Amino acid sequence: MSFATALRCRKCGQEYPLQPVNLCEFCLSPLDVSYDYKAIAKVLTREKIAAGPRDLWRYQDLLPVSSGVVDIGAGFTPLVKAERLGKELGLEQLYIKNDCLNPTYSFKDRPVSTAITKAKEFGFDTVACASTGNLAASVAALAARTNMKAYVFVPSNVEPGKLVGIAIYNPTLVTVNGSYDDVNRLCARLAEKYKWGFININLRPYYAEGNKTLGFEVAEQLGWRAPDCAITTAGSGLHFTRIWKGLEELSMLGLIGPVNTRMYVTQAAGSSPIVNAFQAGSQHVHPVEPNTIAKSIAIGNPADGYYALRIVRQSGGDACAVPDEEAIAGMKLLAQTEGIFTEAAGGVVIGGLKRLAASGTIKKNELTVAYITGAGPRTQDTVADIVRPFTVQPTLESFEEVLGMPV
Ligand SMILES: *Cc1c(COP(=O)(O)O)cnc(C)c1O
Ligand SMILES: [Zn+2]
Repeated sequence: MSFATALRCRKCGQEYPLQPVNLCEFCLSPLDVSYDYKAIAKVLTREKIAAGPRDLWRYQDLLPVSSGVVDIGAGFTPLVKAERLGKELGLEQLYIKNDCLNPTYSFKDRPVSTAITKAKEFGFDTVACASTGNLAASVAALAARTNMKAYVFVPSNVEPGKLVGIAIYNPTLVTVNGSYDDVNRLCARLAEKYKWGFININLRPYYAEGNKTLGFEVAEQLGWRAPDCAITTAGSGLHFTRIWKGLEELSMLGLIGPVNTRMYVTQAAGSSPIVNAFQAGSQHVHPVEPNTIAKSIAIGNPADGYYALRIVRQSGGDACAVPDEEAIAGMKLLAQTEGIFTEAAGGVVIGGLKRLAASGTIKKNELTVAYITGAGPRTQDTVADIVRPFTVQPTLESFEEVLGMPV
């Protein structure tokens, strides 16, 4: 039983039944899932959530799925107090939401869990997606779990470690000679022709909803409150907008107080259309040609850029572009202070946070949550220069000589 009632156009409000569609027939704007919040408020309590499973399904009442969820244990990742990193950055109440610790090593397992569950409900036997890398791994893994066929499309320049992390689940893996934006255009054409569940096209409203759990969990883990500041990165901008929606929903249901969270978005300087629009004071996100090592977020034409921009402004937040060198420094800093090895997208978040803390935009006593969206071990090339071992013979003398130990 689900409390989702309809799909609703974000712009004109036109409603549609809960079907695999993502755009309004009248104004071509995105469709969002709407819920019967009155009915949810009657059954949902903090205690009920706390007694639920230790994964994203503890929030099932706020997700658009009925029973029979496809479960690989996504979500409910640790929120850790980052004392050492906080000290480096001059922030006394800094927390890291460590979404490296999902089954396929990125937060994408959350939205794909809701989308694949929905695909199964709709009776699809095949799912597909356009991906920068992590989404494909997640779709392939969840499809394997529920015995669906998967066609996953990635740019051919995706990191080799990511390809292995996709292929292991045995989807039909297609590498496309072009950028992510080209992959996305190809998939939009395929979606018109093939009756598949395209996770981030015709299933996008359901895919989007899984991301709200990033907001829910942080509020619960902070003892049922919203943070003062939340910072993450944007490729399409989607999960950024859903962190906000998740916090707003909890507040509307009376599970937390009013949300005064300032929302901060970071992008790689080589692919920062949302940051550009924010800094130009513009409402329009103009597409760019991405050029960055942070390939998960190398999206030149972000589908939810406009909405992400609105939330940055509405919440009193800010937008920050981070050069690749600073993202790499951010990866190293996070690993060397908190023991968390993120991929470059997480390095962008730390690089951006460093800038925002240094400028006093985020203040030292503000409760700040930094989302680390994906793990580093599959993209080791970006930081390979870190490897400078001492090579010794297997003798005490050799060890002490090579390392210059005092004798
Ligand atoms: C997909 C991805 C992003 C970008 O998320 P959006 O919701 O598209 O903005 C960021 N980080 C990682 C690790 C990702 O895999
Ligand atoms: Zn409409």
